Amino acid sequence: MNYLRSQLITLRNALVARRREERLNLMSQRGEAPCMVAFYHRVADTHPNGWSISRRGFRKHLDYFQRRFEPVSLSEVQRRVRESYSARPTITMTFDDGYQDNIEFALPLLIERKMPCTYFVSTAHVLDQKPFGHDIESGIALPINTAKQIREWSDAGIEMGCHTRNHVDFGKVHDPAERKQEIVDAKNELEQIIGKSVRHFAFPFGTEQQLTPEAIETVHQAGFEGYCSAFGGYNLVGRDAFHIRRFHGDPQFARLVNWCSYDEKKLQLEPELLMPESEANSHQASHANQTIAS
Ligand SMILES: [Zn+2]
Repeated sequence: MNYLRSQLITLRNALVARRREERLNLMSQRGEAPCMVAFYHRVADTHPNGWSISRRGFRKHLDYFQRRFEPVSLSEVQRRVRESYSARPTITMTFDDGYQDNIEFALPLLIERKMPCTYFVSTAHVLDQKPFGHDIESGIALPINTAKQIREWSDAGIEMGCHTRNHVDFGKVHDPAERKQEIVDAKNELEQIIGKSVRHFAFPFGTEQQLTPEAIETVHQAGFEGYCSAFGGYNLVGRDAFHIRRFHGDPQFARLVNWCSYDEKKLQLEPELLMPESEANSHQASHANQTIAS
């Protein structure tokens, strides 16, 4: 009986995989292939926790991505979404927070494999070498990248992105001055460190609660080209290109493959975000004729 059941599950999974493969091919033919953006925090074999993946696991992800997708930068994702044409599914690598372990293995491997990556750092943590609250709570203050490392890896070809100054939760920030400090000042500070302009912002935690209209408005005003969320989603042509949706580079490989094979059910789970006035107006004007709304 158990044997029969496992055979049925295998058959069902094979059918789902085939159906999804066909759908991805069809989307590609129509120029509507999804742009996938994965987020990671830390690649290391020591002190494993909920925000780390082993070196072996990370290499397996890269092997899979390179076999199946076209690796592109965040700006290229936005271009495809904006111009409403995407002929091949793409993958973009991103990292949040800025852990020292990443320079030992993950970043050199990404450069070696020519996979574009945006590395989001929180400047006060970098400059003051201040460990993250979530690490202190879990008992190990993991080391943060230094300013010198951030500059060196920026020069080596890793694009640096802004992840606030103090890794704040914008759902709890109600003071406009603090918001400005964590978005505008953080951008300036990072630009000082790397000596070049910073294009993208990633919201700490990145769920609906943090993506407030006020914070998104400030991200616009600061001159960023776009922001990343982290609630899990796809970047589809015709959507709002300013908002880059990301999913977790899940160490559980089957879950990662499920995301990457384009699980339509995930679209239903996406939160409706309240948009700032300015974005709502321009969004309405530029996407009035498109069928997929964001
Ligand atoms: Zn973070």
